[in-house]
Amino acid sequence: MKGMKLRRFKIERECIRGQEAIIKDPGEIRHICKVLRLKVGDGVVLFDGEGKEYQATIASFSPREISLALLEQLPPDTTESPLRVILGLGILKSSKFDWLIQKATELGVSEIVPFYSSRVIPRWEEKRIQLRQSRWQKIASEAAKQCGRTKVLIVHSPRSFQEALAMEFEGAIKIFLWEREKTRSLKDALRQPVSGVYALVGPEGGFSEQEALEAQEGGFLPVRLGPRILRAETAGLVISSLLQFILGDLS
Ligand code: SAM
Repeated sequence: MKGMKLRRFKIERECIRGQEAIIKDPGEIRHICKVLRLKVGDGVVLFDGEGKEYQATIASFSPREISLALLEQLPPDTTESPLRVILGLGILKSSKFDWLIQKATELGVSEIVPFYSSRVIPRWEEKRIQLRQSRWQKIASEAAKQCGRTKVLIVHSPRSFQEALAMEFEGAIKIFLWEREKTRSLKDALRQPVSGVYALVGPEGGFSEQEALEAQEGGFLPVRLGPRILRAETAGLVISSLLQFILGDLS
């Protein structure tokens, strides 16, 4: 199987037992059986979403699961950036937020904290929030499968703005994208080498003055991304790319 690009599938850690693994996800089963029409004996790569990857062959099919023989654990993942990027994102209207989760995964972002600030438009009751979050996590998992990551970007449960401000990520400096910032550029904010950055991006309506004040009081450095007003999803994409270019693995 050497040399041939093997298809990658997500496997839950608890479905790996010794040298055997079981795929139970109906979407993955459909993809393997109906779309790719793989057969017993075909080789695949399994990734657990937490950084481990295995070469495996299909051992048998049944309507609700596919069993595979694990051949070997593949060398440690080279698709994870040395920089831990956490994006705090004002929740956007659904397709834009879905798109940004997918792009953030491709750009090596580690975690996303969706938050409700005063100008976030979508407002959902609890049940809908849980459905949204599992949908977002699935988007991240599918994007990881496509781009070759073995670690899946973590989408946290939605927080209030104040809760998002209070979240601590060890070793990460805190910045917030503020189009009214007159002087500090991203380069100014990254003068000292850091292992992580927690960056807040406002929703379509931006941050209120009060929220900008609270963020600064919470230790977040306001950062200007040039003279033009970027759409929220553009700002999320740009900050992820620039951080990976300056401190991560895009340079
Ligand atoms: N308040 C903006 C306005 O007056 O049109 C709308 C907010 S903008 C669409 C969404 C978010 O992108 C902002 O909250 C900010 O976090 C970020 N952003 C957009 N342009 C930026 C810039 N030039 N510098 C820093 N952040 C920016």
